[in-house]
Amino acid sequence: MQDPIRNSFPTLYCHLPPWIPWKGAKTMNLYRIRPLPVDTALNGYRLLLTTKVIELVASMLPKRVDGRSHENVLYLAGSIDGITRCAFEVVVPKAKTAPGSYTTSRDSHAEVLWNLSNRNLVVVGQVHCHPGGAVYHSDADDDLAFIKGEGFWSIVVPNYGEDGMIPLSSCGFHCYSNHAFRLLKEPAVSNRVIVAKDRPDQKKGGSA
Ligand SMILES: [Zn+2]
Repeated sequence: MQDPIRNSFPTLYCHLPPWIPWKGAKTMNLYRIRPLPVDTALNGYRLLLTTKVIELVASMLPKRVDGRSHENVLYLAGSIDGITRCAFEVVVPKAKTAPGSYTTSRDSHAEVLWNLSNRNLVVVGQVHCHPGGAVYHSDADDDLAFIKGEGFWSIVVPNYGEDGMIPLSSCGFHCYSNHAFRLLKEPAVSNRVIVAKDRPDQKKGGSA
C-alpha cells in the first residue's frame, strides 16, 4: 500500500485553535481535517536542543531543487534523560521532497535506527519545514511521523527553513503524548524547550 502524501498546499481548511499566532498561518491552509490537539502544560516532556543542533538545522534544512524550495526533513538524535529528550546530533534521512510535501521510506527509517543504535543514540525528534508561516502539523504529518511514541518531538519550521529556528516562537513544537501529537502553546514552549550551549553528559562517568 502506498503511503499517503503529506501535502501542505491548500486543499481544505482546517480546525485551528483561535490562538494560532503565526503570521500568515490562517491564510495558508494546511491539509488538516481533524482538530489539532493542544498542549498547555507547563510541566511535561521536555526537549533540550544544543546551540549546535539549532545551527545545523538552519544550514541543513533549506533545500532548493531547480530553483524551487522544497519541504525537507531532518531527525534529531541524542539521549533520553527521564522526561527530557536531549538532541545533540542531526541526521539527514533519505527523503523524496517536493515544494509541498516530503516522504521517507521504511527502509530509510530502519537505516537511521540501525546506524544510531550502534552509537548508543536514539531519535528524539524530527524537524521539517513548511512553505509559509503555518507551522502546525497537517493530518499527514501526524499520520506519517517517524515515531509516534510518548515524549517524541516534532518541530515545524516556517518559510522552508530559510530563516532557521530562531526565535523558537516562530516554530511549531509538537510533542506526542496520550496517543496524539499536541501542539505546545506558549508558555509551555518556554518552559519545556531548553536551549543549551553544550551537550549534557549522557551518564555519570560517561564521556561528554
Ligand atoms: Zn508538514
